[in-house]
Amino acid sequence: MENKKQDTASALKDIISHAKEYGFVFPSSEIYDGLQAVYDYGQNGVELKNNLKTVWYKAMTMLNDNVVGLDASIFMHPLTWKASGHVDSFNDPMIDNKDSKKRYRADTLLEERAAALEDEGKEAEAKALLQKMAKCLDAGDLEGVRQIIIDENIKCPVSNTANWTEVRQFNLMFSTQVGAVSEDASLIYLRPETAQGIFVNFLNVQKTGRMKVPFGIAQIGKAFRNEIVARNFIFRMREFEQMEMQFFVRPGTEMEWYSKWKETRMKFHLALGIPATSLKFHDHDKLAHYANAAVDIEYKFPFGFKEMEGIHSRTDFDLKAHQDLSRKKQQYFDPEINENYIPYVVETSVGADRLFLAILCNAYTEETVGEGEQEKQRVFLNFHPALAPVKVAVLPLVKKDGLAEKAQEIVNSIKFAFNTTYDDGGAIGKRYTRQDLIGTPYCVVVDYQTMEDNTVTVRDRNTMTQERISIADLKEKIGYAVSMERIFEKLLS
Ligand code: ATP
Repeated sequence: MENKKQDTASALKDIISHAKEYGFVFPSSEIYDGLQAVYDYGQNGVELKNNLKTVWYKAMTMLNDNVVGLDASIFMHPLTWKASGHVDSFNDPMIDNKDSKKRYRADTLLEERAAALEDEGKEAEAKALLQKMAKCLDAGDLEGVRQIIIDENIKCPVSNTANWTEVRQFNLMFSTQVGAVSEDASLIYLRPETAQGIFVNFLNVQKTGRMKVPFGIAQIGKAFRNEIVARNFIFRMREFEQMEMQFFVRPGTEMEWYSKWKETRMKFHLALGIPATSLKFHDHDKLAHYANAAVDIEYKFPFGFKEMEGIHSRTDFDLKAHQDLSRKKQQYFDPEINENYIPYVVETSVGADRLFLAILCNAYTEETVGEGEQEKQRVFLNFHPALAPVKVAVLPLVKKDGLAEKAQEIVNSIKFAFNTTYDDGGAIGKRYTRQDLIGTPYCVVVDYQTMEDNTVTVRDRNTMTQERISIADLKEKIGYAVSMERIFEKLLS
């Protein structure tokens, strides 16, 4: 059996159309031709995404005694974003091509050039280019960034010209007005990251939960960024979801915790079934204004290795900035050393949508089955069973002779334990295919023998082999196979 994984850019097109056709991801407001970089999750997508969020949240809060949850609001006092530095420096440098009128991120153009140089084996040149860019960006020298683009003779892929405008900074935060009357209204932002909701609640949680440093606060929620160039499907959206955890530590111990969380987070992605060859660490060349160490976990998307998760040592930057601006002390009294201090923070931040895309790309499998005349192609989604939107499909071989009723009975006996569906439409082979295409790990078939001895066949999605088991054992056997416990066991091993 030949099992083929596509690595080319065309693989993304296949994945986008598969995601749409089988109810995973739809363009937002599609009947009005969609809204760029905004997507909706369909009936299967929402199940997969919820499973990813649950497994992340439980891995954080259940497997770590010292990590608790939070659900902060999207709207926050506008001074939050002044303190965090987002009002002044959450910018991307943008540049337009005068001929095609297309807009680009200036740093992305240069990063792509560096990647091309690397591919040609010119690593030193690539590194020097990135360093030159980082120097200009750090110094706010936008003319310098433009000059590098000109010197490198980078052309717009649409017009094929180097007729560029100047480089301008573009703030990525969405703003709106709060208040009914325009004179009273004040400017307010849609949060560009969930982290600040955690920082401003640091003392609330610490005091009410009697938490002792080191401890963490984990949160899942929407974030919004007015991305200059949004592309690659749900990889870069203007409305997306983050799963972030801020871990508060004693100053001086942050690098130890940074290493620990780096390792823990990599283990998480491996436990979800992503192979090690599709994951790598990428240290940041240019650190964000708040960080003293930062690394990305990159996944090998069809368009190359790209960031899926960021792990940052954020020092005491945020808590200190909030303390200064709010004039409210953000300190912790550490009874072990008898000292007051502002804790340092190690953050892990993964996009739920990017993880979803990685899991979908990883699961999408094309293979050739059968031989000679019987040879055919099949596509299936090889999800970890605990992540699959539907765990079991119960299929009566035929609708008559009481088989349909028996199948319904089975559905009713297991549907509270895991996501179960019933399908009696069409030939059995077609029904298997329907389940393969959405990644259902098990198909339970009710046949004539079932009516005699209360056994069913269980077909495995990946191997397509069938095993006969007693209906009485279904719940337990499948229950363990599709449980998140299996993922947690890997995390703790
Ligand atoms: P990028 O460099 O790709 O813009 P970033 O470094 O700005 O990402 P962070 O601010 O570290 O991203 O955000 C943490 C995580 O949030 C990212 O690793 C990613 O998974 C997710 N994320 C950030 N921006 C987006 C977006 N526009 N769409 C979807 N997910 C996003």
